[in-house]
Amino acid sequence: MNRKPWTRFLPLAFLGFVSSVVPVSGVDHREGLLRKGTPQESSWYLSDSGKPGPILMVVGGMHGNEPAGSRAVGQIRHWLPERGKIVVLPRANATGLDAGIRFIPNSPGELRDLNRNFPKTDGENGARGELAREIWALAKRFEPDWLLDLHEGSDFHQINKKSVGSSIIPTKGEGMDEAVTKALRAVNETIEDPKKKFVRLRYPVNGSLARAAHERLGAVAMILETTIKDQPLSKRIRQHRLMAHAILRQLDLTGEGSNRLVSAQGEADDQVRIAVYDAGGTGRSAARRLELVLGAMKDCMIRRIGPPDIRSGALSQFDLVVFPGGSGSKQAAALEKAGRAKVRQFIERGGGYLGVCAGSYLAARNYDWSLKIIDGRTVDTQKGHWRRGEGMVEMELTEKGRLILGDYPKVVKVRYANGPIFAPAGDDALADFVPLAYFRTELAKNGARVGAMVDTPAILSGQLGKGRVLCISPHPESSEPLHGIVRRAALWLSAHRD
Ligand SMILES: [Zn+2]
Repeated sequence: MNRKPWTRFLPLAFLGFVSSVVPVSGVDHREGLLRKGTPQESSWYLSDSGKPGPILMVVGGMHGNEPAGSRAVGQIRHWLPERGKIVVLPRANATGLDAGIRFIPNSPGELRDLNRNFPKTDGENGARGELAREIWALAKRFEPDWLLDLHEGSDFHQINKKSVGSSIIPTKGEGMDEAVTKALRAVNETIEDPKKKFVRLRYPVNGSLARAAHERLGAVAMILETTIKDQPLSKRIRQHRLMAHAILRQLDLTGEGSNRLVSAQGEADDQVRIAVYDAGGTGRSAARRLELVLGAMKDCMIRRIGPPDIRSGALSQFDLVVFPGGSGSKQAAALEKAGRAKVRQFIERGGGYLGVCAGSYLAARNYDWSLKIIDGRTVDTQKGHWRRGEGMVEMELTEKGRLILGDYPKVVKVRYANGPIFAPAGDDALADFVPLAYFRTELAKNGARVGAMVDTPAILSGQLGKGRVLCISPHPESSEPLHGIVRRAALWLSAHRD
């Protein structure tokens, strides 16, 4: 979140400019800050179609350990209303989100749960605590006709009744039944296991924003809950988008698809847009680690992405896609044939591909399941030899490697964890890869051939159509001094976008 919201509120006329921020769509964008100047500072965004219609407010991140709701609202922010207005608050409990905890950090016990601090049924007509007071003031300012509050539960409600995961908790009002039915249908048709389908529950808890917005402001309000347990973030974000989009369509607010993850045009042209794959075949915390390393760059916008997003064409919104460590064959299986074709097409049309460890196996030329986007084949992988071991090895950047990835000393130590050992595949249809670094030492456990790894390429670059491919066998993201390699790789991959 490197954006500087205040720069967009400078009085342009005063500075001698004629306002030029009204995009082609005719939708007017405004934004502001809650808890300005405090650690809890948080941006809200208004998209105003300029046409009569309902006002919808969408809130995420009330509980800091429920990231999918917050991230989904950060994406819904980019949906353009065809009528009425959409106001979003993606990071309601900003310090809680940063800390990854449910409650408001450093808050007195009785006020720590933000979603119990709004005016209660039969209670006073005010919110408790500065943060809830400012959120409530925002709601009163816009007087939404509809309000969605996006949360996550720990477990699937149908499996564990103690959790509200995978449910919609509505209030009442005109159009509510139809909206809930449509939202449930939209999300449930993507879920095979009947026990994991979303269900309708009864009435939001006392003190919640949804309940207060209904009882005090007359809004038709509801809480949407995804389930954290064993589900990648990209999937939960997508489920929130599907439900929210069904409701927006019910309100005739937007005709656009639910697959928009970043802004359509304008505001983010100077940002590198990075899709980080986090679904089937991705190692635990592998996506998160790469996201943290890349997210430290200025001017980048990172989104988690999964197979359904990729298959429905979402990659076209990005400059590059990142496939982290885990299992290349499982990533390929999760993508399915259609998803793999989409990744390949994305690169051919000018997108970038960054594969780390498993993501490099996925890029290879030689498996029936692999993407075949780089002219490299993996060697000594049979009979479990791919399990060469995990530990530190020495790696040397080539001259080209130092140009692209940073001027590192001749030999650096890097963590290795069963990454691919590459040799040229010699496919005439693919451009030869260019080595950017070589392994200078090796691991050779589990029967792996001794000497097979030394002096093989550790980092490879290639070209496919208009796009670039960069494969990293080891894990520079695991060592702080090598984080620059990952960031420079991303910049190089996005360098020749339109
Ligand atoms: Zn919650």
